[in-house]
Amino acid sequence: MEKPIYFVQDKFVEKKNAFIHVNDIGLLRGFAVFDYFKTYFGEPFHLTDHIQRLFRSADLVGLKIHHSQNEISKIVYKLIEKNNFSESSIRIVVTGGVGTDSRSPGIPTLIIYCDPRNELDNKFYTTGVKIKSVQDIRDIPLAKTINYTHAIKYLSEFIPKGFFEVLYVFNDLILECTSSNIFIIKNNRLITPKGNLLSGITRNLILSICSPEFEAEEREVTFTEVLAADESFITSTDKEVLPVVAIDDNQIGNGKIGTGTELIMKKFRSYVDSKVWSKST
Ligand code: PMP
Repeated sequence: MEKPIYFVQDKFVEKKNAFIHVNDIGLLRGFAVFDYFKTYFGEPFHLTDHIQRLFRSADLVGLKIHHSQNEISKIVYKLIEKNNFSESSIRIVVTGGVGTDSRSPGIPTLIIYCDPRNELDNKFYTTGVKIKSVQDIRDIPLAKTINYTHAIKYLSEFIPKGFFEVLYVFNDLILECTSSNIFIIKNNRLITPKGNLLSGITRNLILSICSPEFEAEEREVTFTEVLAADESFITSTDKEVLPVVAIDDNQIGNGKIGTGTELIMKKFRSYVDSKVWSKST
C-alpha cells in the first residue's frame, strides 16, 4: 500500500482513497470531535489521555462513538506500524455520520490519520513568539470539536501581521489560544487559567512535572495580570512549550525568553526523553 495509510470506518486505506460521504453531518453541520497527538521514539505520547479526551469531547456534544477505547488504541498502534514513519502525527476524528436528514446523526464515522510528524521551525523556540488577544470564547470550550472557524479567521488575519497565535479573552479573563494553552510565571509561581477551556494534555503534564522548582496555580487569570507577568509560554502537542515574549504591543517581562520558561522547556524535554510515559518501559 502507498503511504500515508489512514483508517476510515473499518479499514486501512491509502490517503488518496480516504473519503467520507458528502452527507456526513460532520461536514454539513460541524457535528464531529477529534483529538491529535504525536509519537516520540516511535510511540504515541500519552495515547490513553488523548483517547479519553476524545470520548469526553464526544460525551459533551452527545456523539456516541461506536468503537471502544481499546479498539481505537489498537488501530492506532497498527497504523503506526503500517506507516512506519520515523515519527508520526496522528489525528482521530469521529463525525456524526449520515443521518436521515441534515440535522440527524447516523452511524458515526471514525477516521484516523497518520502522517509524518509535524516539526515547528526551531527559531520560534530561540526567539519566542508574539501572540494577539481577541475577545472571544470557543463554543463548548471543554470539548475538542472540529469547529475552528473563528481560529482560522483570526489566524488568517494576524499571522501575516507577525503574530504566531491568538489568545481568547472573555470577560477580562484569559482562556486559551486557538490551539494551545497559556501559562504565566510571576514571582516564581506558575499560573494557568482554568474553566472554559480545553484541558490540554501538555498543560496537565507541565502542571504535574513543574515541582519542586515551581508552585502551580490553576485559577482565573485576568488579562491585566498577564501583561504584568514576568514570563509567559504556550503549550500544545504540536508546539510543546513555546515561549511568548509579547502580547499585542506589550512586551512580557524584558521581552526575552525567561529562565523559568527555559527550565520548563528543559523539564518537558527530560520527561519525553526519560520514556517514563512509554508503554514499553
Ligand atoms: N486548546 C485548544 C483549543 C487546542 O486546540 C489545543 C490543541 N489540542 C490545546 C488547547 C492544547 O492541547 P494539547 O496540549 O492536548 O495539544
